[in-house]
Amino acid sequence: MQRIAVLTSGGDAPGMNAAIRAVVRSADARGVQVYGVQRGFEGLIEGRLSYLSARRVSGILHLGGTMLGSARSDRFLTIEGRAQATEHLQEQEIEGIVVIGGDGSFRGAQALSKESGIAVVGVPGTIDNDISGCDYTLGFDTAVNTALEAIDRLRDTAASHQRAFFIEVMGRSSGWIALYSAIAGGATDVLVPERPTDIDVLVDRIRQAFELGKQYCLIVVAEGDDAGGAYEVARRAGEGVRELDHRVTTLGHVQRGGPPTMRDRILAARLGDAAVTALMDGDDRVMVGEVHRDVIRTPLERSWIVTDKMPDELLDLMDRLAR
Ligand code: ATP
Repeated sequence: MQRIAVLTSGGDAPGMNAAIRAVVRSADARGVQVYGVQRGFEGLIEGRLSYLSARRVSGILHLGGTMLGSARSDRFLTIEGRAQATEHLQEQEIEGIVVIGGDGSFRGAQALSKESGIAVVGVPGTIDNDISGCDYTLGFDTAVNTALEAIDRLRDTAASHQRAFFIEVMGRSSGWIALYSAIAGGATDVLVPERPTDIDVLVDRIRQAFELGKQYCLIVVAEGDDAGGAYEVARRAGEGVRELDHRVTTLGHVQRGGPPTMRDRILAARLGDAAVTALMDGDDRVMVGEVHRDVIRTPLERSWIVTDKMPDELLDLMDRLAR
């Protein structure tokens, strides 16, 4: 294999730049040229490919976002769109592609490989941590640390005013950011899509917390929770505990930005390198992911079909410690 491409797709995640750098440098060390695709699959359809030298990826390791840009592409959902993308790849004699993104991006990569015969390898890059075949996705650790820093700050003001704070965090239909930031932040309760929310139970929990002598409450709400978001949860909880002085904070896109943590940088280095190795080995339609510290390859179609369940043990731990 002489020439490969790399692209970032779907929602951006901290660590994507570090992964691009790892792909380029790892390929360069093996005498393989790397072409970067601007704006994900949309850029592939438009033929926006350019050569990335080892020097071209200097100084990006510590930056959030993605130097290649990302996009969602409706055109890539069509066979015609993917055929256009294939033409551009063939023009440049690209033999393999590293796709850094989430499950949607992997579905697109799978379709492209089947139709074009060009090998694809996925690197799980999404803050949501909702992909099977890896312990953690790239960007998750940074996003949780960002949420955690905000929770620590909100605790200061919650304690000063003896208030309840309802804090909404990202994750789409996944509750991993919420659960981890709630445990690490010592929250009173966490609401996640993986467990049905009962507002009466939450109201009891809040009452109990104040009866136990707590001076404030922190309730972490995953954006995909079935109760309808932090404002709605706060409104309904406020009806249940009339004397509750409360505020709502939605953390939003700050969780997507910022420099990647050490963990995300190391993960990016390992997975970017492993993706190139997989292509060199002649592998196709696989995702590389870290499981129990080993880097393994998983068929792409498993990455979205089987979603690892949120462990009850962690939800129970959260409940036990919140007293
Ligand atoms: P994240 O969940 O972090 O936002 P993602 O990769 O899941 O990342 P999506 O928006 O779901 O983000 O997918 C990114 C792009 O992948 C889509 O805009 C589309 O171009 C392509 N894609 C998604 N699903 C398919 C599919 N079934 N077939 C072909 N292409 C797809």
